[in-house]
Amino acid sequence: MHRIQLENTEFEGANAVYLLGADEAGPTTLIDSATAQPDVQRGLADGLADVGVSVTDVDQVLLTHFHGDHAGAAGAIQAATDAVVRVHEADAPLVAREETPLERLEARHEELFTQWGMPDDAQAELRRVLDDDRLWSSTDAVVEPFTDVDRFAVGEREIEVSHLPGHTLGQSGFVLDDGDERALFSGDALLPKYTPNVGGADVRDEDALAAYLDSLVRIVEGDFDIAYPGHRTPIHTPGRRAKHILEHHRTRTERVVECYAITPPRMRGR
Ligand SMILES: [Zn+2]
Ligand SMILES: [Zn+2]
Repeated sequence: MHRIQLENTEFEGANAVYLLGADEAGPTTLIDSATAQPDVQRGLADGLADVGVSVTDVDQVLLTHFHGDHAGAAGAIQAATDAVVRVHEADAPLVAREETPLERLEARHEELFTQWGMPDDAQAELRRVLDDDRLWSSTDAVVEPFTDVDRFAVGEREIEVSHLPGHTLGQSGFVLDDGDERALFSGDALLPKYTPNVGGADVRDEDALAAYLDSLVRIVEGDFDIAYPGHRTPIHTPGRRAKHILEHHRTRTERVVECYAITPPRMRGR
C-alpha cells in the first residue's frame, strides 16, 4: 500500500489517497481520487510516479463518499483509463451527478439555511463553497454502486466494504485484513485531531448524528490496528480515537440538554 499525501487546501485540506495492488495480478486500485483541480491532480500523478505507476495504470477507484475532495477527479481518471469507479449506492447518484438528486440536495440546502436562521451573508458564503465543490469535480463518472460487506479484488487481495454513514449517507470504509494487520481506510468517518462535519455535510440525512454514533461503535468493535483516513496522517489507535469522539458527542449532548433545562420555557422553540 502506498499513501499519497496531497497539499490541497479546500475545506479541511490535505487529502490523502491510497494506492493498492500496483504490480500485482489483480486490479491496481486507488482509494479516493481527490479534487479535479490541475495542481491537485499533478500532486497525485507525482505520488503515483514515486512508485512507478501512472494514472493510466489505475483499473479501479473505490470512493469513500461523494464529496468533491474525495470523488471530484473520479470521472477524469475514468475518462483517461476506463477504470471502474465504485461508491456506496446512497452516494452513487451524486457522483454520477444525476440531475434530480443534485437539484433535490440544493433545494434541501436552501430550506435548511432558512430553517437554521442563517444570516444572508453566511448563506452567500456557504453557497460559494458548495459551488466550488461542484467546480472541483470533473466530468460525471459512470459508477458501480456497492452496499455494506461487498468485497472487491485489489491487487492479489480482497477488500471489504464497511458502511459507516453519518458524515454522508453513503460514507463507507474499506477493510483490508492481511493476517498481520487489520486496516480500515476510513474516509471522513474517522479523522485524526478533529471530527467530521455531521449534519451539514449531507443534508439528505435527517438523523445523521445517530447514524454517526452507530458508525463509531462499529469502528470500535472492528478492532482495527490502524486507520488510513481521507485527510492527513494514519491513526494508530482507531478504536481509542472512535471512543474519544463518542465521548465528545456525549458530553456535548449533555451540555445541550443542560441549556434546555435552564432556558425559560417561553424561549423554547424560538
Ligand atoms: Zn467529506
Ligand atoms: Zn473530506
